[in-house]
Amino acid sequence: MKILCVLYDDPKKGMPKNYPIGSLPKLGKYPDGMTMPTPKSIDFKPGELLGCVSGELGLRKFLESNGHKLVVTSDKDSEGCKADKELIDADIVISQPFWPYYLTRKKIESAKKLKMAITAGIGSDHVDLQAAMDNKVDVVEVTYCNSRSVAEHIVMMILSLVRDYHNQHSIVKAGGWNIADGVQRSYDVEGMHVGTVAAGRIGLDALRKMKPFDVHLHYFDRHKLPDSVEKELNLTFHESVESLVKVCDVITINCPLHPETENLFDDKLISKMKKGAYIVNTARGKICNREAIAKALESGQLSGYAGDVWFPQPAPNDHIWRTMPNHGMTAHTSGTSLSAQARYAAGVREILECFFEKKPIREPYLIVKDGQLAGMGAHSYSKGSATGGSEEAAKYKK
Ligand code: NDP
Repeated sequence: MKILCVLYDDPKKGMPKNYPIGSLPKLGKYPDGMTMPTPKSIDFKPGELLGCVSGELGLRKFLESNGHKLVVTSDKDSEGCKADKELIDADIVISQPFWPYYLTRKKIESAKKLKMAITAGIGSDHVDLQAAMDNKVDVVEVTYCNSRSVAEHIVMMILSLVRDYHNQHSIVKAGGWNIADGVQRSYDVEGMHVGTVAAGRIGLDALRKMKPFDVHLHYFDRHKLPDSVEKELNLTFHESVESLVKVCDVITINCPLHPETENLFDDKLISKMKKGAYIVNTARGKICNREAIAKALESGQLSGYAGDVWFPQPAPNDHIWRTMPNHGMTAHTSGTSLSAQARYAAGVREILECFFEKKPIREPYLIVKDGQLAGMGAHSYSKGSATGGSEEAAKYKK
C-alpha cells in the first residue's frame, strides 16, 4: 500500500544532534483509565523530533519492512504541490493539525484508492468529513494523545496574558528595566472567574489545573459533567455560551471545530463578554472570527487573546492576528511537544498495525467509519465541512 504522510518542516538548522533532557517521564494511563497508545513495537526514541519531515513519525522501517511505500512531504498547499500529486494513488494519508493537509472534497474525490485519513494528533476538521463520509474514507485520530499537553499550554497562556508576561519579557530582552511599563497591564489570576467552552478531555483538565490558583471555575458544554466532578472543582455549569461569557474574566475554548462551532466567537458574542476579558483559544482558529478578535483587542473589549491555532495554517504572513495588540499567539505548537509526539507517533503505529492486520481500531479513535460519523466523531462532531477557505494557506511564504 502507499502511505502519504504530510508533516511540518525540519528545524531550519537541521535535525537536533542532542536534546535538552535525556528521557521522558514514564506515564501510566490517561486520567479516565484509557490506555496510552500500545503498538506492538516502535522504531523511534521517545523524546526525539518525530513530527517533522525527517522524523517521519518513526514509521519508515515498519512500513517498508512490511512491503508498503511511504512518501513524506511538507509541500501541501500550492497548486500542483507534492502532496496533491502523491495523493492521487495513495491508500492512506496521514496529516497533523499543526501543519494540516486540508483534505477538501476535491482532493478526496481525486484520490480513488484512498481508504483512511489518519490525524496524527486530535482534531480532524482539516478533513471535509462530509466528503469523507460520501466517499467511504474512514477518518481516525489519536484521541487523548496530546489533550493534557494542550491543557498545560492553556494554563501557561492564561497566566502569561493576565500577568502580561510577553510584554515584560520583551522589555528585558531589549535591555530595559521599565517596571511601570511592565506592570501597567499586569494582574493576579487569583479570584478571577475562569470558564471553558467545552469540558472534554482538554477543557476538564484545564479546569483541574487552574483550580490551585484559587479562581472561580465555570463551564459550558452540550453535556453536563457528573455531579461528583462539579463538586470536586466547585464548578458552575452554564446552559449557554452567552451565559458563560457574561460572567467570566477568562474564557478558554476547548470544543472541536465543526459547522456548529465555526465562527462562534463573532462580534455579537464578543460584545456580550465581560468588558476587558481574556480569551485563550487552543482549539481551532476558525471558532473565532478573525476580524472580530482584532477589533475587540483594539477597542479594549478584550484585554488579551492567546492561543496556538489559526486559520488557515500556516497563517498567511499578513494574518491580522500576527500584529493585533495584546496577543500572545504562537504557531500551532501546544499539542506537539516532544512528549506529545512520542504518544501520537505510537498511536499512528497502533492504528496502522490494526488496519493492516484487519483488527478493529479503538472505538475512541474513530471519527468517520463506513460512511458515518462514528466513535468520538459521532459524539463530538456534526456533519458537514469546516475546510472552506483553506486554500489561503498557500499565501504563507517561508
Ligand atoms: P474531547 O472530545 O475530549 O472534548 C471535546 C468537547 O467539546 C466535548 O466535551 C464535546 O461535548 C464538546 N463540544 C462539541 N461540540 C460542542 C459545542 N457545539 N458546544 C459546546 N461543547 C461542544 O476533545 P479534546 O478535549 O481532547 O480536544 C478538543 C479540541 O481541542 C479538539 O477537537 C481539537 O480541535 C483541539 N486540540 C488542539 C490541540 C492543539 O495542539 N492546539 C491538540 C489537541 C486538540 P460532548 O462530548 O459533551 O458532546
